Amino acid sequence: MSPLASGRLWIADGLLVTPTNHDVRVEYGSILVEGSRIAHIAPRGSPAPPEAHVLDAAEMIVIPGLVNAHIHSHGVLSKWVVDTLPLEMWSPYVAAGRIGMTPEEARLAALLAGIECLRSGVTTVLDHPVYDMTLFDAAAQAYLDLGIRAAMAPSVMDRPYFETIPQSQHAVPDDLKRSLWAKPQPSVQSLLDLTSHCIKRWQGVGDRLSILIGPSAPQRCSTEMLTGLGQLACEYRVGLHTHLLETRAQALLARRLYGMPITTYLKKLGLLTRMVSVAHAVWVGDEEIRDLAESGTTVVHNPLSNLTLGSGIMPLLRLREAGIRFALGTDSPNSGGHHALFESMRLATALPRALESDPDAWVSPEETFGYATLGGARALGLEDRIGSIEIGKEADLVLLRRRSTSLTPLNHAIRQLVFCEVGDSVDTVLVGGRIIVRGRRLETVDEDAILAEAQRAAEKLVARNHPNLEWARKQEVYTRAAHSATRELAKPEPLWLRRRLH
Ligand SMILES: [Zn+2]
Repeated sequence: MSPLASGRLWIADGLLVTPTNHDVRVEYGSILVEGSRIAHIAPRGSPAPPEAHVLDAAEMIVIPGLVNAHIHSHGVLSKWVVDTLPLEMWSPYVAAGRIGMTPEEARLAALLAGIECLRSGVTTVLDHPVYDMTLFDAAAQAYLDLGIRAAMAPSVMDRPYFETIPQSQHAVPDDLKRSLWAKPQPSVQSLLDLTSHCIKRWQGVGDRLSILIGPSAPQRCSTEMLTGLGQLACEYRVGLHTHLLETRAQALLARRLYGMPITTYLKKLGLLTRMVSVAHAVWVGDEEIRDLAESGTTVVHNPLSNLTLGSGIMPLLRLREAGIRFALGTDSPNSGGHHALFESMRLATALPRALESDPDAWVSPEETFGYATLGGARALGLEDRIGSIEIGKEADLVLLRRRSTSLTPLNHAIRQLVFCEVGDSVDTVLVGGRIIVRGRRLETVDEDAILAEAQRAAEKLVARNHPNLEWARKQEVYTRAAHSATRELAKPEPLWLRRRLH
């Protein structure tokens, strides 16, 4: 059969595991895929429809494709060139590592991220890259060629980096300030033009690409920038994705900048709605939690990245109590590691248990499986099309081999998917009815060739950026001082910043 399964496909007798709005349904059954969609779901043992190609799933668990709702493909080729530091100290290194990227490097980075996603059961990714038009186009084309479903949010900011770090004004000497400030910031108009270009060029292409408005973070953008982005979101009727209150420093800066909860500021700009998703939300106070809940904003939880960068632990139970909707992400490959969402599910389930002794308050694996599927679909505005195994939805499906150490013996499918699976039971992956991974092998691209090309490209990129990494190292003394000053400033922590972990 052609890898482009555009006819009828009968996925026979699998153990279907799908989220519903409030729970997870687990039952044996067969799925008829017609074209890109799920046309019918039948009880186990039903005969295959005529002329349908049969995919035997008797030894498989079938789940809806997972949605990784926060990654940054621009960091893939320079991942782990430097160890992690607190975000404000680490960001200059990450920025230095991607300076001068070529379209070919952006293409390879997106392919690597996409392949890693697909092979671990992720069929939809939300990528938030810091790219110009040429690099963005190369990454978008790569996702299209690979066959994964992608929402891309071109990341923009118009404030100089050191203005986004509290206390840096005192720490950075004047001559360095002048040299850092000497590099002209992109104009608001040029960043709006970039965003418009991405929407006009890629929105809806292949029925698999979508574009979101992507301010890097509110405090990294001027009010003029955010207002312009909001207008584009209305004009093109697209959603918005951004970082929000990832670190203590950001929470301090936000209070200083706005004199009100940052979510109140976003609400005033019309930028907090059901079509908005925010990554992290670690340092949220009661008012921010209320605003996020009332507006229907989705919070994308990136637990491993928050741990690795020392940002903290998102107070999931408090946010859940307020009725906030969740999705899961892995964040940058050099802070969140692998793009496998199984790890995010596991951490999202386990971390609150370390902080809350009442087991009745814990998050269940059924819930976090929902975050990784339907929750992610909602974050992207695609809940009518993906996120569950339902008739009429896109056939974005993942078949996992039951004969794997994670899933053998199979005693409880959902618990084992969340607590035992790492992604290596993933056998077959369909996106929009098309088989992209079969028997763990990519059908759309030559994975071995891409890995070899990516290794060569990364070596050149890192060598080229060695002077920039050195320049970042020189800045570290000031980012470190700013970080220390921020820590001091937060002692004793004011009421609104008090760490309540549950
Ligand atoms: Zn991020």
